[in-house]
Amino acid sequence: MMRLVTTITEIKSFLRQVHADGKSVALVPTMGSLHDGHLSLVRQAKRQCDVVVVSIFVNPTQFGPAEDFNRYPRNLEADVALLQPFMVDAVFAPSSSEMYPDGFESFVEPGETASTLEGALRPGHFRGATTVVLKLFNIIRPEAAYFGQKDFQQALVVRRMVEDLNLNVRLVVSPIVREADGVAKSSRNTLLSADDRKAALALCRSLKRAEELVHAGETDANKIREEMRQVLAAEPRIRVEYATVVDPTRLKMAERVTAGCVALVAAQVGTARLIDNLILGPPGTTPELLLQLALSAAPVLDARARIPGLETETLRKKIESCRDCAAITSILLPPREFLVKHLKREYPDLNAVRVAVIGRDSPINPENLLYRNPDITNRFVSSLFELLGVKNFAEFKERFVLTDALRCHASGSRIPFKALEHCAQHLREELKLFPNLGSIVVLGNDAYVQFQRLILGRSERELKPFLQLLGNQGWATEEVSIPTLGDRTVHVFYCHHPTYEYKRSPSIAGKLV
Ligand code: AMP
Repeated sequence: MMRLVTTITEIKSFLRQVHADGKSVALVPTMGSLHDGHLSLVRQAKRQCDVVVVSIFVNPTQFGPAEDFNRYPRNLEADVALLQPFMVDAVFAPSSSEMYPDGFESFVEPGETASTLEGALRPGHFRGATTVVLKLFNIIRPEAAYFGQKDFQQALVVRRMVEDLNLNVRLVVSPIVREADGVAKSSRNTLLSADDRKAALALCRSLKRAEELVHAGETDANKIREEMRQVLAAEPRIRVEYATVVDPTRLKMAERVTAGCVALVAAQVGTARLIDNLILGPPGTTPELLLQLALSAAPVLDARARIPGLETETLRKKIESCRDCAAITSILLPPREFLVKHLKREYPDLNAVRVAVIGRDSPINPENLLYRNPDITNRFVSSLFELLGVKNFAEFKERFVLTDALRCHASGSRIPFKALEHCAQHLREELKLFPNLGSIVVLGNDAYVQFQRLILGRSERELKPFLQLLGNQGWATEEVSIPTLGDRTVHVFYCHHPTYEYKRSPSIAGKLV
């Protein structure tokens, strides 16, 4: 059931139980008048978190005195109807006085990232926006918050705030959703007359022109800016506020365009002020990867750096090694490639594998991964070898394979069920790779929940608490038939995770089939 909540007390009391149940909460902050752009964030949030809260609040403190606060489109009823099919858990739509009661006087003061572009033209805008976002974070306490690339600078400013103020939330940024003709979806588009709507096309046309030039090999940012302005100047109905290309870290004017640089425009079109942007990168790069390029870009050191190839490759590697898709919106390198890559190198004959170990290897630091560095002797590896009764990696890979319950989404101690669900798809496929699998060793509670619920298809009610199952013996076993393995019978051993909990299981070497 979707709740419409207007008070802080009520939303907090609803979320108290949700947090107590260990569920992950997503926040999608909006100003309402929802469209497909907002809905793409909701969709992403639903995919990644257990409970989704959409806030709808036209925040007065981010509007300047001469801006369109009073005219900003509002339509709560239609918004609620749009969200209904998404099974959002709560819509939080407070009044201005609920968020800013009499006597309110404390604000966030954003820094340099907020000083250019929108910040320069709309003094106080980011001060108001970060303040309301921080208030929402404190009220909702989300694990993840969803923002759109449409407000690229806002995403960067909020990201800085999260880092600078040590906020406990991960940000997920999604690409811009556009109308069929290319105009970025925006609540303010409803304010456009038919002629202005046509004129609004010039914004995305100027961005497309920038992209065309870059794809043709142009790297001089000034030339690109000039051409963007020409495209905009050809449309008499609009008044340009800026049209520029910036580096994606500090949003300073770029001299040379490198992959991840961002072309941005803002213009007054009739009575509406519109913004749009486009991330520049090699031809054929998907919007998600472009976003990753921009969000993970390091400050540009080498002014001669050129677009094609190189930087994308570095990024790909980064994503590949990233096991915590904190900032990864739509992870592009499929996590299923994780084990396959290692198998090619280490296992010439997959028939030899008799035992699959499902654990959480080294989610915090991928450099510690067993297959990445087989001779490593960290606490996880030595305890694992002891549990299985093998001396070293060479002996290990004769019969065993180690895979992971999680490949992305989370590295914290509280793993959302959604993350386990997402990764279980890959695990299911992986287990099929080994025709002679006789045993599976499941390490720790997360892997246990995932295995029972998502591989064996058992219900939550059927699950014994992990510690109770392991009891004093410190391990448990059962024979199961696994539907996705053609109902083959496999011996499963449940053991303590070697490093996550304080308890250890005794060696199960003699019992493995
Ligand atoms: P707003 O309601 O305009 O404050 O937007 C709420 C959130 O939706 C922000 O994070 C925006 O960046 C995002 N958003 C707005 N328009 C779009 C769009 N066309 N595509 C993707 N995200 C969008």
